[in-house]
Amino acid sequence: MSMTTADELPWDVESLRGDFPILASEIYGGVPLTYLDNAATTQRPRQVIEAMTTAYERQYANVHRGLHYLSELSTDLYENARDTVQRFLNARRVHEVIFTAGTTASINLVARSWGDANLRAGDEILLTEMEHHSNIVPWQQLACRTGCRVRFLPVTDGGQLVLDALDDFLTERTKLVSVVAVSNVLGTINPVSTIVRRAHQAGALVLVDAAQSVPHGTTDVQAWDADFVAFSGHKMLGPSGIGVLYGRETILESMPPFLGGGSMIRRVTLEGFEPADLPSRFEAGTPPIVPAIGLAAAADYLQQIGLENIHRYEQGLTAQAQAMISRLDGVRILGPGPDLRGGMISFVVEGIQANDLAMTLDEQGVAVRAGHHCAMPLHARLGVSASTRASFYFYNTPAEIERLGEALHKALRVLRRKP
Ligand code: PMP
Repeated sequence: MSMTTADELPWDVESLRGDFPILASEIYGGVPLTYLDNAATTQRPRQVIEAMTTAYERQYANVHRGLHYLSELSTDLYENARDTVQRFLNARRVHEVIFTAGTTASINLVARSWGDANLRAGDEILLTEMEHHSNIVPWQQLACRTGCRVRFLPVTDGGQLVLDALDDFLTERTKLVSVVAVSNVLGTINPVSTIVRRAHQAGALVLVDAAQSVPHGTTDVQAWDADFVAFSGHKMLGPSGIGVLYGRETILESMPPFLGGGSMIRRVTLEGFEPADLPSRFEAGTPPIVPAIGLAAAADYLQQIGLENIHRYEQGLTAQAQAMISRLDGVRILGPGPDLRGGMISFVVEGIQANDLAMTLDEQGVAVRAGHHCAMPLHARLGVSASTRASFYFYNTPAEIERLGEALHKALRVLRRKP
């Protein structure tokens, strides 16, 4: 893979960075910020901030309730946001888009609603060893409630799924396969369509944890043919507190509501209730109204740049970073080569704690994450307890990767000198 040079950039990255006020920050009283923690959360452009500010200043009331001007306006904006997300995902129907609080909430919704209604002792859920805790724990909790069993497709030493083992793991007992599209540690891009096809042949449904894929490339839920897709707004330029559960219409319609309360009912009597149609059935209470408007503005912004451009550009940055990091003394990069990974690199350095490294980079203005990245089983599988992760977005530049390199060299010198 060739490295992206400044001449080959698919956009004027400097003028685009002007949309992100925070990227021009100086921290610790004068150190320029190099923000490389985008897998944890991205930053927001003015367009998203302004859409939300305008909504709060001039368009805000509760949705679906009052018969008054502001409520109608707010409802229109909220439902338009759903239309935008439908187009963004290429979902067949707009009511297949459920607004939630984020990926974690979306997965828990499926586990509680679909899982409790459909799983019994003896049934199996197939995950992989590279899942985020939010795609492990809800299924372990479901297993406690129902007696079903959670199994894990293994990962190779190189950080890829052992797809050859899929046929052994997929049996008539497998009711759901829940898999991450892009690992938040390894960056590995998984072959979602292949996994969906094979799971469906075995009679299982498929949930895709798309938290790290939706922000960084084109998503077509129909092409994937997945039954559920979960992702978060804050990792794709949107606000925190909002996410999406896409679900196939027929399956969502068969599912009981998870949270009970206002908005999710058609009728309530003292004896019981009748649930509302989709999507309200799964949106109990006052929803994240302005965050949904912000999410739609973020989706529009990303589409204007072009998600294929974003993907290609990030692969260039990743190749540059991977080449640079792999030359460092005593470093082990987790995961596959740059052609097979999204825009992030996690690594461990012999004799140096991931936290110490991240703190020493931070002193130089470089923001990365260190720890287990909510993937303890994956780190255990790879024989490490923690790693340092640099993660990129389309507003990062080749010069910032160079700054990361310089900061890493200095950090290793400093930390190795310590007794
Ligand atoms: N899955 C993956 C792959 C993630 O990277 C994350 C966020 N780190 C999540 C799930 C959880 O997302 P959230 O915290 O926004 O619910």
